[in-house]
Amino acid sequence: MNRRRFLQTLTFASLGAAGGCGLSLEDGLWNPCLSDEIPDVLLQHEVVRAAWEGVDPTKCWDCHVHIAGIGDGNTGVWMSSDMQSLWHPQRDLQRRFYLNAACSEREAHVDEDFVARLLQQVDAFPRGAKFMLLAFDYYYDETGACREDRSSFYVPDGYAAKLARSRVDRFEWICSVHPYRVDAIDALEWAAKQGARAVKWLPSAMGIDPASPKCDRFYETLIRLRLPLLSHTGKEAAVDGADDELNNPLRLRRALDQGVRVIAAHCASIGTYLDLDRKPHAASVESFTLFTRLMEEPRYQGRLFGELSALTQGNRMGSPLNSLLARADWHARLINGSDYPLPGVIPLFSPDRLVAQGYLTDIQAQILRQIRRYNPLLFDFLLKRCLRRHGAGFAPISFESRRLFDTAV
Ligand SMILES: [Zn+2]
Repeated sequence: MNRRRFLQTLTFASLGAAGGCGLSLEDGLWNPCLSDEIPDVLLQHEVVRAAWEGVDPTKCWDCHVHIAGIGDGNTGVWMSSDMQSLWHPQRDLQRRFYLNAACSEREAHVDEDFVARLLQQVDAFPRGAKFMLLAFDYYYDETGACREDRSSFYVPDGYAAKLARSRVDRFEWICSVHPYRVDAIDALEWAAKQGARAVKWLPSAMGIDPASPKCDRFYETLIRLRLPLLSHTGKEAAVDGADDELNNPLRLRRALDQGVRVIAAHCASIGTYLDLDRKPHAASVESFTLFTRLMEEPRYQGRLFGELSALTQGNRMGSPLNSLLARADWHARLINGSDYPLPGVIPLFSPDRLVAQGYLTDIQAQILRQIRRYNPLLFDFLLKRCLRRHGAGFAPISFESRRLFDTAV
C-alpha cells in the first residue's frame, strides 16, 4: 500500500470509529479554517435569513460545546498519551482531525488557538446566542478511585468556569462531576455556585452506570440544585470507553424516576442495547427505539429531553432523523447542541447526500458548504434549521433551549 492509500485507509478507520460508515469525501478531508469574516453575500443570503426566522437568538443556547486542548496553555486540560502516540496511529490521527476541526494545530498553542477560533465563530451569531462549554471528568472505578489510565481526556470544571466568565455575553458552562467521587456532592455544589447550568456525563468513557444506586445521592443533589443532567446516549465511538452498555438510554430511568431532568444527548440515535425493561429475557433493541419508549411515557413529560447533536452526520441519516423531524409533538422537548468541534470534521457530513435524500435544496447545500469553510459551528446550526422531510422541519422551539437551563426565565 502506498503512503497516500495508507493514510486514507487509516483516516477512514479512525473516523469510522467516530462517525461509523457514511463518511463523505465530497469536500476533502480537512477543514480549511478560513480566517476572514464570512462574506456578506453569504451571511445575508435568503437561505441564512430564512433559517433565523421565528428563532429568538437570545433564547438560543447551544448545549453541547466541547473544549479541547492538550494542556499546553496551563489550562489543566489533559489528553491521554494514546492520543498523541505513534504507537496508536489511529488515535493519533483522530486527535489530528479534532484539532483541525477546531483550527488549533499550531505547536505549543493548541489550547489558546482552540478558544480563539471558537470565539471567532460564536461572534458570527446574532447577539444573544450563547454556547455552553463542557467540562469533562476523568474515568473513576467502582471504588471511587480516579483512573487516568482508563481516561481519554479531561477538562477541569475550573477551566470551563473561567472561560465562561471571560465572555459572559457568549458563554455558559456545564460541569462534569463523576458520581462515584468521594467529593462528588461538594464538587457539584461548588460548580453550581460558580454558575454551572447542568452536568455532563459520558457514561462509557467515564465508567458511570446511571442505573446504579451509587448515583442516588448525586441525583438528589441535582434536584436540589435544579441542575439538569446532559448524558450521552447511544453508541459512543469518538472516545474510548470500557463498556458501551452504560450508554443504554434505559439506564437513565433511575435518574428520571427520582425526578431529575435528563437531556439524552444525540437522542440515543445509534447502537443496540439490552431491553432492560424485559428482564430477565432482555433482547437487543435499537437504541432509538428505547429512547422513543422513554419519550412516550407520560410521567417523563417535562423531565426527559432529546438533544440534536450528531443527528445530521452521514451515518445517522434515515430513521432517527426522519422520526425526529416528523414528531412535531416532541419538538418542544428537543434541544439543539452542536457537539463542537465535530461539525468541523469535514467527512462526517455530506451535503450532497442530504440533497439527494431531499433534506436540503441545492442552493441551501451550496450556501451551507461555503459557510462551513469559515465557520462549522454556524454551518451546524443553519443545517439543522434548513432540514425538511415531507415539508416538516424542526420547530424554532427546538433551538430555544435557554428555558431548560436558566431558571430565572
Ligand atoms: Zn460530545
